[in-house]
Amino acid sequence: MAKIFCIANQKGGVGKTTTTVNLAAGLAKIGQRVLMVDLDPQGNATMGSGVDKRQLAHSVYDVLLGSATVQQASVRAEACGYQVLGANRELAGAEVELVDLEQREKRLKNALAAVDAQYDFILIDCPPSLSLLTLNGLCSAHGVIVPMQCEYFALEGLTDLVNTIKQVHANLNPDLELIGLLRVMFDPRITLQQQVSEQLKSHFGDKVFDTVIPRNVRLAEAPSYGLPGVVFDPAAKGSQAFVAFAREMVLRVQAALAG
Ligand code: ADP
Ligand code: MG
Repeated sequence: MAKIFCIANQKGGVGKTTTTVNLAAGLAKIGQRVLMVDLDPQGNATMGSGVDKRQLAHSVYDVLLGSATVQQASVRAEACGYQVLGANRELAGAEVELVDLEQREKRLKNALAAVDAQYDFILIDCPPSLSLLTLNGLCSAHGVIVPMQCEYFALEGLTDLVNTIKQVHANLNPDLELIGLLRVMFDPRITLQQQVSEQLKSHFGDKVFDTVIPRNVRLAEAPSYGLPGVVFDPAAKGSQAFVAFAREMVLRVQAALAG
């Protein structure tokens, strides 16, 4: 059975997509079978996995509307080692079209059930909003991974997200939990970032992942080559951090299953 995680944060530019594609590549690298689902109409995770969003025969849009299965709509990102259920601008329209459909927030969950046995991990890159698309992600998942920068306003938006997770847990998906906060784009030379990082740890305890992702230009360059940093430059500090994060995720999943 696949473990399904949403990478979510309603702020834009905080590192969701970078986390999704690099965690996917990191997990693939250590032998896990991974499906990456792009739920953002911007399609950055699709492009960043080397899949051209303009050339998709089917996308997650078709899956949400029920006109294609996950099997039919997903493609192999050969260089990256994982499967991609891509997205493009068409997905922006789904928000409106879903409203009238039955079980509108569970469309993705129901579709993913068919491929559950084929993967160890399914990672869902969410758009920067708490929209019906994000809700479909949250209803499908066992847990939420929240990438965040250790900046002054970082904690502010977190309250809304934590409340949304609680509401979804209570009303729609009892499996859902906040797995953890991932500190990304971290620069240890900046005192403020160290302070916020300490605050996070004292406030959220073991909900803060041990792995810290450093600010690393190679991670930012990789998308223009259609590759996750982990594949583009495996030796880069940021890439190594994401492989370490993949290992931490595998250990957390094993620990959760055991106990
Ligand atoms: P989101 O999906 O939350 O909007 P992205 O993953 O697209 O955020 O990241 C926003 C920008 O920051 C992108 O240009 C990305 O390349 C860059 N970026 C993300 N993580 C890092 C990092 N660890 N080091 C350097 N640049 C990063
Ligand atoms: Mg993104």
